[in-house]
Amino acid sequence: MALRPEESVICGQGKRQLSLTEALAIIRRELQPCADRQRLSLTAALGRVLAKPVHATLDVPGHDNSAMDGYAVRHADLQTGQPLRVIGSAFAGRMFSGTVAPGQCVRIMTGAVVPDGADTVVMQEQVRREGDLVWVDGQHVPGSYIRRRGEDLRAGDLVLPAGHRLGPADLGLLASLGIAEVDVRRPLRVAILSTGDELRLPGETLAPGQIYDSNRYTLHGMLQRYGAEVLDFGVVPDQPERLHQALRQASAAADVVITSGGVSVGEADYITGLLAEHGSIGFWRLHTRPGRPLAFGRMGSAVFFGLPGNPVSVMVTFYQIVMPALECLEGKTPTPRLQLRARLERPIVKRDPRLEFQRGVMTVSSDGTITVRPTGNQSSGVLRSMSEANCFIVLPEGAYELQPQDWVNIEPLVGFN
Ligand code: AMP
Ligand code: MG
Repeated sequence: MALRPEESVICGQGKRQLSLTEALAIIRRELQPCADRQRLSLTAALGRVLAKPVHATLDVPGHDNSAMDGYAVRHADLQTGQPLRVIGSAFAGRMFSGTVAPGQCVRIMTGAVVPDGADTVVMQEQVRREGDLVWVDGQHVPGSYIRRRGEDLRAGDLVLPAGHRLGPADLGLLASLGIAEVDVRRPLRVAILSTGDELRLPGETLAPGQIYDSNRYTLHGMLQRYGAEVLDFGVVPDQPERLHQALRQASAAADVVITSGGVSVGEADYITGLLAEHGSIGFWRLHTRPGRPLAFGRMGSAVFFGLPGNPVSVMVTFYQIVMPALECLEGKTPTPRLQLRARLERPIVKRDPRLEFQRGVMTVSSDGTITVRPTGNQSSGVLRSMSEANCFIVLPEGAYELQPQDWVNIEPLVGFN
């Protein structure tokens, strides 16, 4: 990673902390798509990112066709008040091959090709039929109930750009074009490991002062939801040699390495030093809360994120920093975070000047206004706040007090908590 001098190795306290915007700009500048391409059948491609744009090779629909069960008529005939003679039927997949002449009509089903000569479809509910004759009631707009050739997609249209993540609608859209296979990027391989002498695995017994490792589980879940392939390197104690060995192995195996803990300035925090010595540091201090200590850089050919140890910080920094980075590595068009305006239900006293992501619960009140309340204790160790939350309350930089009814910006969490 070629880094500009002002951004490289900003170790030591008191150095400038990057804003989230600056950090994301560095990430976008430094990270290019790295995942290889593969060709997959449509059903296997859900959630993958397109490696190439897809253009339409056909018009969809391919013919003018009926949007209703009814009768295909000539609109001019409807003005005469005379009954129309039914000369045949058109079904979806079985077209009527004749031509509708003045005074005639064709019984037509939804999806059937509109026969030559007809220019309008009348719903069967607006028709009285006796034998071969039909009387059409009411007023009809010329061309009504006809779905036009190419109204969904036209041959030559750009249907989906490279970098688009395929959702269920996209799979259907590609199928509607007759496309059976697509070129996508393979999932990113992301190695995760937790650092800390105090950490034990769920299922083990805790000695005094020990805690269970929860960060690998939240990371695993978020990465799985994101669509990455997770390589789990377990828990590594706070020993520089052991950590170095684990980082070497992880960075040889993965596109991205994510650690948690040991990234601050405590005496057992070795991550930043190891990254400076054996890799390169892009930045490691952010002006955000949580997430101030956060190391971004490279270790071998892998992109490296040293996330803070506190469980909430892990989730917030993953969401705000790591996810956009993963998108860059997949060549995905960055999705701007959806922000909504909401009215606060409770006061917030903001003392820390950093950009802050509080955990909130948003509700839509009966008049349609979105209201939000913080989830109690906002300590970055209180993981319950993430589990209860359905949004972040985004509090811009500065120290201030907010009152009930004040407007704030929120970011819905859309399945990542
Ligand atoms: P550190 O950044 O290593 O000083 O960790 C900050 C706080 O997060 C400490 O209270 C750690 O015990 C806690 N912590 C670190 N890693 C984990 C983890 N994997 N699971 C739960 N808590 C952790
Ligand atoms: Mg630690």
